[in-house]
Amino acid sequence: MSTMNPNLKVFKFGGASVADAAAIKNVVGILQQYKSQPLVIVISAMGKTTNALEEVVNAHAANNPETLAIYERVKEKHYGIMRDLFDADDEVFSEVNDAFVEAEWMLDEAPHENYDYMYDQIVSVGELVSTKIVCAYLNKAGLPSTWLDARDIIACDNTYREGRIDWDKTVKNATTIITPIIEKIGFVVTQGFIGSTSENFTITLGREGSDYSAAIISFCLDAESMSIWKDVPGVLTADPRYFENVSKLDRLSYKEAIEMTYYGATVIHPKTIKPLQNKNIPLYVKSFINPDGEGTVITNDVDDHYPPIVIVERNQALLYISSKDYSFIAEHHLSHLFGLFDKHRIWVNMMRNTAISFMVCVPNQPERLKGFFDEVEKEFSIVKEENVELVTIRHYQEDTITEMKRGKIVLSEERIRQTFQMVNKSVPAIKPKTTA
Ligand code: ADP
Ligand code: ASP
Ligand code: MG
Repeated sequence: MSTMNPNLKVFKFGGASVADAAAIKNVVGILQQYKSQPLVIVISAMGKTTNALEEVVNAHAANNPETLAIYERVKEKHYGIMRDLFDADDEVFSEVNDAFVEAEWMLDEAPHENYDYMYDQIVSVGELVSTKIVCAYLNKAGLPSTWLDARDIIACDNTYREGRIDWDKTVKNATTIITPIIEKIGFVVTQGFIGSTSENFTITLGREGSDYSAAIISFCLDAESMSIWKDVPGVLTADPRYFENVSKLDRLSYKEAIEMTYYGATVIHPKTIKPLQNKNIPLYVKSFINPDGEGTVITNDVDDHYPPIVIVERNQALLYISSKDYSFIAEHHLSHLFGLFDKHRIWVNMMRNTAISFMVCVPNQPERLKGFFDEVEKEFSIVKEENVELVTIRHYQEDTITEMKRGKIVLSEERIRQTFQMVNKSVPAIKPKTTA
């Protein structure tokens, strides 16, 4: 393990943990225990702010006359929380107002032709204001903290809404900018989810990307550990919103965590694991509701005895692609098709082929799929089946599979070593029991 920042911890607090004034006070209470320690704190937008800001973007894109009114509601929500936390003359009010105004210039102009660019300029304000508020409140509570603009650290290409990291630049920024601050002052507070392009425009890393931001910073600074504070006790054997009888996994290997998140366990963003694994930095998943709980620790652990773990990825589509002239779907076709998946940024979750047809399960994102269809249809027949879900069971046992199949229409299934997968027609949710 590296010795660059041997005591540095990186914490990430998501939207739910800072949803209102009481939640922010709870987070500050947790942080009291780490007083005077070198700590980088990565924070998401408050509650469902990102969704609300997406509405603003969509309204603006549609020239909706209500756009500014919708934006005002987002602002007012924040001012309400600030009134609960600060005196009326606190300078945080003008700082937050400045950040809101910064995003507003986009709304004063006609909708920008590049939707993704416009989206990033507006949606990023959620993280800018949440961090200003939490940082000000930490200082007020006697925990000296410095606000850091993540756009000065996280350097990306120009792929708006899915920024790809320029690692050399980001490592250089992090070490030259963050290290001197943590040497002097305990806490650094910065935004998850956002970065900047080479032309210094704001970019986002993809929805739910704050976990990834924290992992990038942990990697760059050779942190001792990273912790993500969630509304669950740790990583569970299935999503408790949809399943009964779930249990906590005390330890997970990076390998297990990356497989789970790749197949859609939303408790951790899938890109989070790699930077941590590469530097052997342990990842703790802890509860902000019960901060003394042990949580889950994710390391290089080699212990491979896991209970069945169930992951359901909803809103998928099955694509059936076949050759029009009965030629085999052979390697050259597949390589061409995969080139197109990559070009249109469509992630393949499961695939299967027969002599003249190829079936894939992909996220049902109509905008991306349209461009793909336009190109594929020139050469192949392609049919899309919507409203399907992909169920993955790691370390399956037969009774878990039986339970999961109950009441479902199974379109395709397969078993590869410890992983069982099936694609189902989505039917209204009943809460199945997992048998962990
Ligand atoms: P954040 O506040 O950091 O954005 P999320 O809400 O994205 O956190 O992630 C936490 C949620 O992930 C939980 O509330 C839970 O519903 C969901 N989740 C999905 N799969 C799992 C799992 N295997 N274990 C625990 N939580 C899970
Ligand atoms: N606020 C962003 C989102 O809701 C990023 C994050 O929370 O991780 O997608
Ligand atoms: Mg989230």
